[in-house]
Amino acid sequence: MTTPTPLRAEGGFPVVGIVGGGQLARMCQPPAVALSVTLSVLAESETASAALVVPHSPVGEHTDLEALREWARHCDVVTFDHEHVPQEVLTALAADGVNLHPGPEALVFAQDKLAMRRRLTELGIPCPRWARARDAADVEAFAAEVGWPVVAKTPRGGYDGKGVRVCRSVAELDDWLAAVGEPGSLEDGVLLEEAVDFTRELAALVARSPSGQAAAWPIVHTVQSGGINTEVLAPAPGLDEQVAVAAAEGALRIAGALGVTGVLAVELFEVRDGETGAPAYLVNELAMRPHNSGHWTIEGSVTSQFEQHLRAVLDLPLGDPSARDRWTVMANVLGGDDEDLYPTYRHLMARDPGLKIHLYGKGVRPGRKLGHVTVFGAGEDEASLEDLRERARHAADYLQGVVRE
Ligand code: ADP
Repeated sequence: MTTPTPLRAEGGFPVVGIVGGGQLARMCQPPAVALSVTLSVLAESETASAALVVPHSPVGEHTDLEALREWARHCDVVTFDHEHVPQEVLTALAADGVNLHPGPEALVFAQDKLAMRRRLTELGIPCPRWARARDAADVEAFAAEVGWPVVAKTPRGGYDGKGVRVCRSVAELDDWLAAVGEPGSLEDGVLLEEAVDFTRELAALVARSPSGQAAAWPIVHTVQSGGINTEVLAPAPGLDEQVAVAAAEGALRIAGALGVTGVLAVELFEVRDGETGAPAYLVNELAMRPHNSGHWTIEGSVTSQFEQHLRAVLDLPLGDPSARDRWTVMANVLGGDDEDLYPTYRHLMARDPGLKIHLYGKGVRPGRKLGHVTVFGAGEDEASLEDLRERARHAADYLQGVVRE
């Protein structure tokens, strides 16, 4: 690995290190420029999404303690593009005095879904009914309580639904564990959850700084397709006011209790209470970094999640998280067959001048998240929202090659 010579801005402005060169690190660069903060990214490769826009992007593995140590010497604070840095590496860096945000004690709850369920349950945060299963008898006992099917999750390493499986029998669970390879077998311990009959998926996004200041964005609706988030509606239309307040308070309480620093995304299920039918929420999972459900904030909020994350990890006063417009809609752009996106991009700009297109500099592969588009508007009614959704959907589909005009 080559050692960077970080450029420290005049006036004592700090250097923020980000482990991982994905699109989240990339999208921190525009606010870093505006804040006069220098970024340094420990990137997977020279062509990683963030390495293409951040001049100080040495290549190194996020599992390589020596590489991290060497790089972190140049950073005032270190934060993350993903949650894959192993706990033993994090604790060694913290022991060296590296200023990690979030720290290992918080991050473990975004790395290990069993630890997360245990802790949230202790805190009295509403969760799906769950159990840790280590043998067939555990699975049968849990299914007897909540009914088949059950949702099985590998405690670690899942993303975009890859570590999640709806199972209708112990045999199906066994086969799936053997196929995914990690944990590989039931003996290693797997998280089981009731299959929640949710009305839709929501997300609460908050930020918290080391000195305890916190801010919450409006709750959003995250539309999923095949385990992947395809669209975000901000704010979640028609959301019950009490649920909105309770979910935001819950997310702020989680951030405080777990000692989260930076952005915390809390993925939620909107449900109906079994007895009263009243709307309520359950927590699905946590991410301690800027999150796909918050990309709408770049144009849609006074302070974007990327700017807020930088402010929070630096313990700067937080910015205003209010929405700028009545509605903001974000749609993810997935890879299609077309490798040459530039002509498509030009066409969309001409067709819809209000559209904001963000591409992440990644090679096209079918299904890969390549970018996102955002539209926003002031119209109060649902028809205005539908019009925004139609524009965002069209642009994302056009870039993906699903529609041709
Ligand atoms: P990942 O870590 O891969 O993102 P999640 O835990 O977020 O995995 O689950 C992925 C998707 O699976 C969720 O967005 C939701 O649609 C579905 N899901 C997860 N847990 C449950 C559950 N207990 N009941 C019903 N659906 C679930």
